[in-house]
Amino acid sequence: MPAAQFIDEPARSIPIHGDYEVVVLGGGPAGIAAAASAAAHGRKTILIERYGFLGGAGTAAGVTNFCGLFANVHGDIRRVVHGVANDLLGRIDQLGGLNAPHLVLGKTKAVAYDTTAYKSAADDLLISRGVDLLFHALGAGVLAEAGILSALIVETKSGRRAVRGRVFIDCSGDGDLAAWAGAPFELGDESGNLLYPTMMFRVNGVDPTLAGEAWTTIPALMREAEKRGARFARHGVVVRPQRNPVEWRVNATQVASRNGRALDGTDATELSYGEIEGRRQAQAFIDFLRADVPGFAQAYIVDTPPQLGIRETRRIVGAYQLSGEDVLRCASFDDTIGVNGWPLENHVAGNVEWSWPPIPQSRGFNHLPYRMLLPQRLRNLLVAGRCASMTHEGQSAARVSGGCFVMGEAAGAAAHLALAGNGAVAGVDVAALQRLLETSGAYLGRDVT
Ligand SMILES: Cc1cc2nc3c(=O)[nH]c(=O)nc-3n(C[C@H](O)[C@H](O)[C@H](O)COP(=O)(O)OP(=O)(O)OC[C@H]3O[C@@H](n4cnc5c(N)ncnc54)[C@H](O)[C@@H]3O)c2cc1C
Repeated sequence: MPAAQFIDEPARSIPIHGDYEVVVLGGGPAGIAAAASAAAHGRKTILIERYGFLGGAGTAAGVTNFCGLFANVHGDIRRVVHGVANDLLGRIDQLGGLNAPHLVLGKTKAVAYDTTAYKSAADDLLISRGVDLLFHALGAGVLAEAGILSALIVETKSGRRAVRGRVFIDCSGDGDLAAWAGAPFELGDESGNLLYPTMMFRVNGVDPTLAGEAWTTIPALMREAEKRGARFARHGVVVRPQRNPVEWRVNATQVASRNGRALDGTDATELSYGEIEGRRQAQAFIDFLRADVPGFAQAYIVDTPPQLGIRETRRIVGAYQLSGEDVLRCASFDDTIGVNGWPLENHVAGNVEWSWPPIPQSRGFNHLPYRMLLPQRLRNLLVAGRCASMTHEGQSAARVSGGCFVMGEAAGAAAHLALAGNGAVAGVDVAALQRLLETSGAYLGRDVT
């Protein structure tokens, strides 16, 4: 890379878009739950999202599947994430967009959904709770002094705007707001390795009768194709039916940067390369499906999503970092705000490595502590979702939708309590937060050991 050159930008006055009690950046599962929760507690709340729809990676990266809502509790696969998630899933179901839960690796369950229904259901949910939505607004900076944030700067088609707030919740997935405000963060494991990204895609035109349970036979068919010279970016692929079984989702690509390491989603140049490489791999994989997999001969790619699916970028180093060990030993925390029942899912070069807590000997879930939402140095900022305070291994589990809903809902409730107190998020009375969450229907996992 050539040495960076700089030009100076003249200082300018920025119009104020509005004044809010709670400002949420990012409309993925964490942001949806955070905004819904803060507004339900009566706080004047705005959610800012760079796209024109909600859902985050769940819609913008074509994920189309909720993981982490269930846990294998001593052999019994149980729904363990409720609260805002119940409201949202109920609305998706009413729109006819929710699949029946399906088994994952024989150990837990996940729920596929239609992207279009998710977008509309999330709109309805937030509007019904009185949240202001500002779409097509890219968070671009923050005003902060002495550890107190006062405004988020956004770029919009109407120009640059400032959104003033009293408590901010960073649900950008990338920890953008936290990083701009100076919160310490990590990028990757101790060697800087990130989870590999994937370009998701959906295919249509599948013959469901012929395809049957193709997900069980595809790994062997890939190995056969490899013997004939085919090359795949990764093994451990997921090819599963959506609500309408002529449509399947394909989670099979793996995008490295030009140096072979996982692409860095905070690097604009690498991201641009990755979008193109992801689509190239999608086209190569549909060729394999058509040629080698029964039921897929007439299949075609109906959608590559608006963006490459980024699993991991910045993770803040907050008051506590949830670790892989915490997930595997089903850790309990006094400041639990909900639970994660998803295992470690490590996207390494060419494969996906799974590590589970002992099943059925363990309760199959860990508590998520309030402290993982608390960045250092900043008095009125909470961070929820995949950029919350976790190690690389811990994040490989709790980053899925279920954990993000839990963190988001707790962050919204905590923002409300901080505003009712002295405004400091670290000073929130945890017992009061837990009572508030349980009253709102959240499950904190304190009844099972
Ligand atoms: C390929 C792939 C497959 C996955 N498969 C599954 C699965 O099957 N099931 C599952 O549950 N999870 C899955 N996940 C994980 C899950 O989708 C994400 O970890 C989860 O969506 C993270 O939620 P979040 O709210 O923290 O962030 P995100 O979902 O990433 O949402 C962040 C939102 O913030 C917005 N944003 C970011 N920066 C800015 C900014 N500066 N200004 C304005 N807006 C901004 C983004 O546009 C986005 O809408 C997968 C992830 C990937 C990438």
